[in-house]
Amino acid sequence: MTHDPDCLFCKIVAGKIPSRKAYEDERVLAFHDIHPWAPVHLLIIPKQHIATMSDLGDEHAGLLGHMALLAPRLMQEQGVTNGFRTVINTGPDGGQEVYHLHMHVMGGPRPWVKA
Ligand code: AMP
Ligand code: ZN
Repeated sequence: MTHDPDCLFCKIVAGKIPSRKAYEDERVLAFHDIHPWAPVHLLIIPKQHIATMSDLGDEHAGLLGHMALLAPRLMQEQGVTNGFRTVINTGPDGGQEVYHLHMHVMGGPRPWVKA
């Protein structure tokens, strides 16, 4: 499994930087965003280092499907009952700040910090 020692989210996967974990299995980790835009704001990440969505290949279809299918399940576990928003930022013009693939999953009563 690929791992980048300089990557913030790889350090979270390795437990070198603390996070508020919401879910973990052999393929993915979900934790609470440190600057939430919504009452519940999770990041779902693969445990292996994949920098961006543009770096995904056909071999990652199952992984991405797993991440997407976890979103409603984790929101339900967090008590989110009225819908949620999923976002994956990719590259500079996509506003990506951390170059380890992550899916933002946000829910809870509005108003939120960001629309
Ligand atoms: P993006 O702009 O899509 O790359 O989003 C990166 C997200 O990571 C932002 O929403 C940050 O608040 C979040 N973030 C950065 N550092 C941490 C951390 N140590 N723990 C949890 N979330 C973080
Ligand atoms: Zn990484």
